Amino acid sequence: MAAVPILMYHSVRDDPPPDTAALSVSPGAFADQMALLKEKGFTPVRLSGPVEDVPKPICITFDDGYADFHSEAMPVLASFGYPATVFVTTGWLDDAGPDAAGRPLDAMLRWGHVREAAEEGIEIGAHSHSHPQLDQLEDGALRDELVRSRLLLEDGIQRPVTTMAYPYGYSSARVRRAVAQAGYATAYVVSNDVASHRSGYAVPRLTVQRSTSLASFERIAEGAHRFYREKALTKGYAVVRRSRYLYRQAMRRD
Ligand SMILES: [Zn+2]
Repeated sequence: MAAVPILMYHSVRDDPPPDTAALSVSPGAFADQMALLKEKGFTPVRLSGPVEDVPKPICITFDDGYADFHSEAMPVLASFGYPATVFVTTGWLDDAGPDAAGRPLDAMLRWGHVREAAEEGIEIGAHSHSHPQLDQLEDGALRDELVRSRLLLEDGIQRPVTTMAYPYGYSSARVRRAVAQAGYATAYVVSNDVASHRSGYAVPRLTVQRSTSLASFERIAEGAHRFYREKALTKGYAVVRRSRYLYRQAMRRD
């Protein structure tokens, strides 16, 4: 299968709070990036959409579920007719009510927005319930994060939710097994690599952030820009994170 770049966005706003600033993009930059895709002949497709005979397929995704996905990103996507996916942290939703969990980093979507997005053809995926580091959770808590977010979303939008993205991109073999058991068909990581496979539980995505110039955005989209250094760092860090989890487990048993 041909490699398909999958873009990963977070917040789309001017003047973001410090916690989301680096990973956010301004509405102006976002609109320029979407226009560039059109200008360069890209065809934004659904995550699981067919790509055979599609010229320059590319996928657009958003993590966390910021309110500005509805106010800023959706109108731009609609104006170009682009499909996209938003991975929602269910406990962070603005009107999560008794299900509220975790610490939202900014103004978040409301259920009404999520439903409206789903009705307008935006794919809704899960992003855990409270946005924990999944690889650091015990099996029970891990399962709860994965199942609860999927069930809440399915109940909220009245359609199946089969995709999820790992908070912080953190996963491990154990987390990926739990994701499969929790009923997801596909899961997305952050690895700044172009997806040569679009199925399984570690599909790579490309980070677009505030420091991404339009020129580097083009290189990312064209797949010419590989982040070898970052990739190496991510792999080394995964080993550290796994030892940390095992160490904690060992301490608990003592
Ligand atoms: Zn996130």
